[in-house]
Amino acid sequence: MLILDGKIASAAIKESLKKQVDEIKNNNKRTPHLAAVLVGNNGASETYVASKVKSCAEIGFESTLIRLGETITEEILLQQIDELNRNEQIDGILVQLPLPKHIDEQKIIEAIHPSKDVDGFHPISAGKLVQGLPTFIPATPFGIILMLQHYNIETKGKHAVVIGRSNIVGRPMSILLSSNTKHGNCTVTICHSQTKNLKEICLQADILVAALGRPGFVKADMVKEGAIVIDVGITRVEDATAKKGFRIKGDVSYEEVAPKTSAITPVPGGVGLMTIAGLLKNTLHAYFGREQFEN
Ligand code: NAP
Repeated sequence: MLILDGKIASAAIKESLKKQVDEIKNNNKRTPHLAAVLVGNNGASETYVASKVKSCAEIGFESTLIRLGETITEEILLQQIDELNRNEQIDGILVQLPLPKHIDEQKIIEAIHPSKDVDGFHPISAGKLVQGLPTFIPATPFGIILMLQHYNIETKGKHAVVIGRSNIVGRPMSILLSSNTKHGNCTVTICHSQTKNLKEICLQADILVAALGRPGFVKADMVKEGAIVIDVGITRVEDATAKKGFRIKGDVSYEEVAPKTSAITPVPGGVGLMTIAGLLKNTLHAYFGREQFEN
């Protein structure tokens, strides 16, 4: 059984990105710049944004973190995004989700200019993805594809089952795996909370992607011998013995499932790190897109 190690795969991607950034700098060009907007004090969001900002620094990107209070109005947030859209120094904009309940997330997603939509959540990006056109791919499914690429995992002709149909993970993942590309060409089944016979469907999966946000949901009796299992879940579960009082659990019962698989991602140390790699790649893509336009 192969452990699909996000630390190793993301380090390789970061190294290659760093080389490209070094070259940009050696040519005295403007440095790629990511702006991250964090609203409120959600602990998990703080952690995610902090690691995104840290990763930018590691590869030589500039980054700006804009922190706004929990009670900020939707209008102020929209104004902030408008400023970032107009700012020629900024290549990519991400607004960390979830947002406080009084803010309409979809409105915020649609306010980000599609040329700076490095999270790939804008309907224009999503539409292009469906049509197989070059676009920003949502960072988590993108990171999973990069992981499959890194470990040379053949996907062609395999049956992939994706549990979860969110716009952020499950649905774009199903599109990527079914697309006519090197790391696609799967026959894909997408499952959700209304799926009947979920266990029977999962048992048919050569590649099983669990993205439902239910810790330990996928048990050994749901997994075919030799399957490739990708665990996207990140849930904080209370643990008095842990330093922070919680630990991170995936959607797969790793201990019992791993021995049945041919390859599996751990949590933590799997997909989460690849998500950041996907975001960084998208940001460089945004930079080159704008450079091309400006020159
Ligand atoms: P989400 O928006 O809550 O979507 C969850 C999906 O799972 C929904 O489509 C839901 O079905 C489905 N689902 C829920 N319970 C189910 C069940 N019992 N059986 C079958 N399907 C079920 O969540 P998300 O944003 O996609 O995130 C999913 C998980 O990935 C979360 O743990 C999240 O923290 C994690 N995540 C990780 C990363 C990373 O970088 N590793 C990034 C993003 C998200 P319905 O549509 O019918 O409700």
